[in-house]
Amino acid sequence: MTTTNSDKPRVLTGDTPTGRLHLGHYVGSIENRLRLQDEYDCYFLLANMHAFTTRAERSREIHQDTIEIVKDWLACGIDPNRSTIVLQTEVPAIAELSWFFAMLIPFNRVMRNPTLKTEIDSKGLGDTYPFGFPMYAVGQCADILVFRPKYVPVGEDQVAHIEMCREVARRFDQVYCGVDSHAEDEDYEAQGGVFPIPEALIGRIGRLVGTDGKHKMSKSLNNAVFLSDTPKQVKKKIGAIYPGQSREPNDPGDPDINPVFTFADVFIKDAGAVAEMKERYRKGDNLGDGHVKMAVVDAVNELLEPIRERRAQYEGPQGDAAVVDIIRAGTERANVVAEETLWMAKEAMSLDFWRRSLETK
Ligand code: ATP
Ligand code: MG
Repeated sequence: MTTTNSDKPRVLTGDTPTGRLHLGHYVGSIENRLRLQDEYDCYFLLANMHAFTTRAERSREIHQDTIEIVKDWLACGIDPNRSTIVLQTEVPAIAELSWFFAMLIPFNRVMRNPTLKTEIDSKGLGDTYPFGFPMYAVGQCADILVFRPKYVPVGEDQVAHIEMCREVARRFDQVYCGVDSHAEDEDYEAQGGVFPIPEALIGRIGRLVGTDGKHKMSKSLNNAVFLSDTPKQVKKKIGAIYPGQSREPNDPGDPDINPVFTFADVFIKDAGAVAEMKERYRKGDNLGDGHVKMAVVDAVNELLEPIRERRAQYEGPQGDAAVVDIIRAGTERANVVAEETLWMAKEAMSLDFWRRSLETK
């Protein structure tokens, strides 16, 4: 029995299918999603259109990555009977709202968005990125607002995007619904606004560093430990992290500049054991870097083992087909809410010429 499209407050978040999910996603957002599944009506969006911003010529890969991300979600414990899995490109209301919102936000405001600037830098996009790249930040306002959610569980890098989304929601409600510009954020809907002003919910770790010890762990930067990595791959990737200093086991070291200890803090459940390792590391009390890394490898593998097992159920073409069925069922449910929001927006904008219905074949 499904409990979605219910009266519970809504949550929206999602991932871009530019590769598989990694440990940063887990601690930055997935943990929160799992926690919220019961209390909220959750929508998890596959932002497949946004994957085209950086790899338009690799559409086959985007198709497969879309399926792989859902396998990761299911493996982590996202339950499609409690939460709604949504394919962005089959929710036309998102594309339509993106246009409406693009009219309400100054071009320069979009280009000043610090997350876009960081992405242009870290992904080496230079000045060759397509027009659609900055447009994705506007599109993301529509991804979120089409579900009129209360919360958006995300990592730290998304805060700038959520802020923009909040600005767009306020502006729409002020311009088209007569909401007073001095209204408190939580009062916008009560004052007749179509859109609530959603809040970002940052995960336990807002920004997990990558295995390069520098940038945020990212699908596109070759610095990620993927949730679907084998124990051997995990060992190899953690083993290759530069500990920030060169030392022998009996040399005093600084755990604070060693990214392996960041992973220890995040993934080793026994905080006392980590504190003790740090103490010995500081003193140079016979603690090699290899030992710390192995402790991290074991902890990460303990987290990933049940995820790997669940993921194995969806291997092969049959698994792919089962995943597509799940996406289709979720997207159909999502379109009920999305069409309702679009109609509300059109009514407010005097675009309510006639109603329409969508059909999935
Ligand atoms: P890409 O490199 O393609 O941008 P990504 O690894 O940044 O991929 P996204 O799909 O952009 O992943 O992000 C999905 C969600 O995971 C967002 O809420 C984002 O804030 C969060 N997230 C991504 N990387 C991290 C990280 N290293 N630490 C914490 N949260 C993260
Ligand atoms: Mg990203």
